Amino acid sequence: MKIKNTEKIISPPPVHFVGDGFRVHNFIPGVYPLTMARMDPFLLLDYNSKYYFSPTDKPRGVGVHPHRGFETVSIAYKGRIAHHDSFGNSGVIGEGDVQWMTASSGLLHKEYHEKEFARAGGDFHMVQLWVNLPAKDKMTPPKYQPITNDQMGRYILHGDDGIIEVIAGSYRDVKGPASTFTPMALMNARLNAGGKAEFEFPSAYNTAALVVEGSVLVNGTEKVPSDHFALFSNDGEQFTIEAQEDSIVLILSGEPIREPIAAHGPFVMNTRTEIYQAFEDVESGKFGHLED
Ligand code: MN
Repeated sequence: MKIKNTEKIISPPPVHFVGDGFRVHNFIPGVYPLTMARMDPFLLLDYNSKYYFSPTDKPRGVGVHPHRGFETVSIAYKGRIAHHDSFGNSGVIGEGDVQWMTASSGLLHKEYHEKEFARAGGDFHMVQLWVNLPAKDKMTPPKYQPITNDQMGRYILHGDDGIIEVIAGSYRDVKGPASTFTPMALMNARLNAGGKAEFEFPSAYNTAALVVEGSVLVNGTEKVPSDHFALFSNDGEQFTIEAQEDSIVLILSGEPIREPIAAHGPFVMNTRTEIYQAFEDVESGKFGHLED
């Protein structure tokens, strides 16, 4: 087993707003070298670092928009998000929970701060990750996997080191509840100060770690501060993360799909023709209807 070294430690890029409710650092595909091809199957990672939103009776968020060809994975660390789609589905992503939405053949949806959270105001802290689908699955029917925190796999680390919350894939013998179309792992390492965890993924998997809280040392040498992103090389399988203070680290690792990517806004397909088709299908109502 060889060490998986870090390829680059990336500072959070300047924020921009998605709608008026998501104040995000766009790491994938916004920052070199985190292109969609380099991070395959992870297409996009928007990180709303912890940010206080003042109380309001008019919830902030992003209005009706389509998606086709991939999955959106929303991870709420602080705050709550309400969503509604064009097929009548709705729900709330609670603090500590995850929504794994397979947009696949297409839907319209809107994402807002949950009403009571908006009314009280508070810290909002979340990740939205887009996961690509293989060509053969891009036009399957949409589906949801709401994953509450208590449904996640839990691996208790040695001593008082902390826990690994497994959302997808597995950590040692503990599996996450998410079903995925291609092999991948997604987990939160919640480490106490001084706590250490070892990770192992195939060298070909594209692998990264986002420090959501605290600060850590990777492989005993590389310091990764809060809100920074560590990209791993494809040179080995194993790495360690050691918390320098109480920390939360999101770990993502996936087998590349290695198919052509044609991406335009909320559509990620394999060819330009399929992108034009997506625009036409939205126009003709194939994505359903949703009021703002
Ligand atoms: Mn969306």
